[in-house]
Formats: sequence, C-alpha cells, structure tokens
Amino acid sequence: MLPEPAVIETDIAIIGSGGAGLLCALAAADADPTLSITIVSKGAVGRSGCTRMVQGGFNAALGPLDSLDAHFRDTLIGGGFLNDQEMAWALVEGAPAVIDLLESQVGCLFDRDVAGALDLKPFGGQSFNRTVHRADQTGLEIMGRLRDQMFRIGARELEDCRALDLVFDRHGELAGLTLLDTRTGEPAVLLARTIVIATGGGATMYKIAAPAREKTGDGVALCFRAGLELRDMEMLQFHPTGLVAGASRLTGAVLEEGLRGAGAYLYNAHGERFMARYDADRLERSTRDVVARAAYTEIVEGRGTPEGGVLLDITHLGVDEIDRRFGQMRARTQLIGSDLATGPVQVSPTAHFGRRRASPFQCSMIAGKKREQTKQ
Ligand SMILES: Cc1cc2nc3c(=O)[nH]c(=O)nc-3n(C[C@H](O)[C@H](O)[C@H](O)COP(=O)(O)OP(=O)(O)OC[C@H]3O[C@@H](n4cnc5c(N)ncnc54)[C@H](O)[C@@H]3O)c2cc1C
Repeated sequence: MLPEPAVIETDIAIIGSGGAGLLCALAAADADPTLSITIVSKGAVGRSGCTRMVQGGFNAALGPLDSLDAHFRDTLIGGGFLNDQEMAWALVEGAPAVIDLLESQVGCLFDRDVAGALDLKPFGGQSFNRTVHRADQTGLEIMGRLRDQMFRIGARELEDCRALDLVFDRHGELAGLTLLDTRTGEPAVLLARTIVIATGGGATMYKIAAPAREKTGDGVALCFRAGLELRDMEMLQFHPTGLVAGASRLTGAVLEEGLRGAGAYLYNAHGERFMARYDADRLERSTRDVVARAAYTEIVEGRGTPEGGVLLDITHLGVDEIDRRFGQMRARTQLIGSDLATGPVQVSPTAHFGRRRASPFQCSMIAGKKREQTKQ
C-alpha cells in the first residue's frame, strides 16, 4: 500500500522485482548502505515475474574441461552470429562470478554431485555440460533467497504498484516516475536520482506464451513514450516445448530444456523423429531457435497433431529417474491430463522472452538519457 502523501523520494528506484531488480538492489545496497532504495513491483516482491519460473538453470563455464572461449563460441553459434559480441562476452565472462555470488552471498543451494562439485547439466547447443540448477525449480531457489536478502538490506517495497511513466524536470533531466497502486487505484509520484527499469519484455503478446502474465511489455512502452532508445526489439526467443492444452492457462507453459538435454525425443504426428531433417548432428539437442523453427514447420506443413503440436517423449528414462530429475515437469503434464513419465506429451513452440539484453541478471534498461540527447 502506498504511504500518504503519495509523493515519495528515494535515491534509487528499481522497477521490477525479478532476478534483475533484486540483484540490482543488493548490489546498490552493498556498494553504499546509506542509499535509499525503493523497489516498485507490479506483483509481490520475490513472487512475480519470470525468474521464479526458471526451471532449467543458468549457464556458466565451470566444468573442468569447459572454458570461457567455448561458452562464448557456443553463444555466438547459437545466436547465428547476430549477437552483440561485447554483450555476449560480458555474459559469458560474468556468469561464473554470478553463480559464486548467488551461492556464497545470496545463499542459494544448487545441486552438487557425489564429489561435492556443482552438478552441471546439458542444455541445447552446448559443447560441455554447463547448466547450474536446483532440480527443475532453479528460479524458486534463487528468488526465495533473494527475497530473504531484501529483508537484510531494508529496501522500501511498493508491491502491487504499476510504473506508468517516467517524468522529467523542466531541464529535461529524469526526475522520477508515476505509479498506480493497483489495489486501491490511487496514483503516486516517486522522485528518484536514478531509475533502473528491470521489467523484462512482453512475450505475452503472443497467443502461445510462457511468461508470467504481468509481463505485458509496459516497462518497454514507458521507455518508448519517454523517448529512450530501445534496442533489438525483434529479438524474441521461442522455446520449442510449450504445453498444448487447449483453452487452459497452461497452454504455452514450458517443459524445460533439460528434458531434451537428458535425451527426450521429438516426433511429428507420423511418428518421425523430425529433427533429423533439420539438424542431423545435434537432433533434439540443437539450439532453441532451430528446434522451435523445426517444430513450427512440422505443424504448419500438416505433420503436427490435430491440436497443433508435436510430441515430446522421454519415457525411456523410466518413471523413477523422471520423478527424481523432472518431478515438477511431470506434475505439470498431469495437470492437463497427460503424463510425461508414461507417454508422449503434446508441445508447441511458445514465446519465451524478449529483452534488450541477453543476461537474465543484467538490468534491462537504465533510464537517464533521452533519445534527443543521445543523437547529439
Ligand atoms: C517458464 C520460463 C522458464 C525459463 N527458464 C530459464 C532457464 O532455465 N534459464 C535461463 O537462463 N532463463 C530462463 N528463462 C528466462 C528468464 O526467466 C528471464 O530471462 C529472467 O528471469 C528475467 O529476469 P528479469 O528480472 O529481467 O524479469 P522478471 O523476473 O520477469 O521480473 C520482471 C518484474 O517486473 C515487474 N513489472 C513488469 N512491469 C512492471 C511495471 N509496469 N511496473 C512495475 N513492475 C513491473 C514484474 O512484476 C516482475 O516483478 C525462463 C523464462 C520462463 C518464462
């Protein structure tokens, strides 16, 4: 609930309380504990956004034979060489330190092998296993621990508050933002010296989509209205294996990448393992874009199921192994009357995320420069 009067002042305003927003708050508080930090979130802090939905995990070159160069190369190949290479390098180079921070400072517990080393699982397009995870609920682990850290730093939290627009002073300098308390309908003004926009993208504009429903792209829109530059808006990722569940809200919900990493097969309605036609070497372990395009092609060319999907089958792993490694995924399929452990499940490409930057933990945009100023 907003305080009275509804003009609030802060040093740093962070819009969005997913992984990016909360890690940013943590970094700011650790850099200068005297700063006042305000987190504005459309949902509950720690329980809104997509980070808590992350199942698979996060890639970092931490294996004994792996290297930053190999991770960078895989990232560029996976990106079809369209990547901003400096940002891709920053992601790759920074990833091990982020994992270390999450474990040693934030308190996350990731899966380890019997020798005590981080258990790195395979994802598509990787030349080495490098996905750090907590079973298939990695996001819940990260957001739960980050939530605890927020109590430590004492940031002010404005939950159920939607950021509406950036406001500028008479000299054209950024001065703050307007908010709407969505529980009461009351508007407010938040005056801030720095504003970090960590609202993510708006993949929910697609009919079949995976993200949290509050991810409507309004963070991007408020930047656009304020004349800020937006980059790479066409770069939207489709995950190849979203559930097909008719009118259910579960349509589009992701069945995680680790399933293909662990050896799941993809079949069309004719029983063909169609990935052989699209990437004969990597098959189902190809990158998301290749697998998503392949499945889409099968569906639009009439080789999909009557409901508009293809089939994902991992039953050869056995019920016990599936329960141990993919218990959440199995439960998700049971909600729609299928069962991953006992039969194939219908899946379709699903809009996954679209953002300006590749790293889940880099803040999406830092407001401060107007487009006119950038052009000078
Ligand atoms: C189902 C699923 C599985 C995924 N699995 C993986 C994976 O295995 N590995 C991986 O690397 N990535 C994965 N991703 C992608 C990953 O979740 C995102 O890249 C990352 O979590 C984005 O973090 P974020 O903090 O930028 O956004 P989010 O975590 O989405 O947080 C956005 C925040 O902004 C708030 N917000 C939005 N608009 C406003 C507004 N106008 N005013 C105030 N607040 C607002 C939201 O309420 C939320 O708190 C997955 C995504 C999905 C959807």
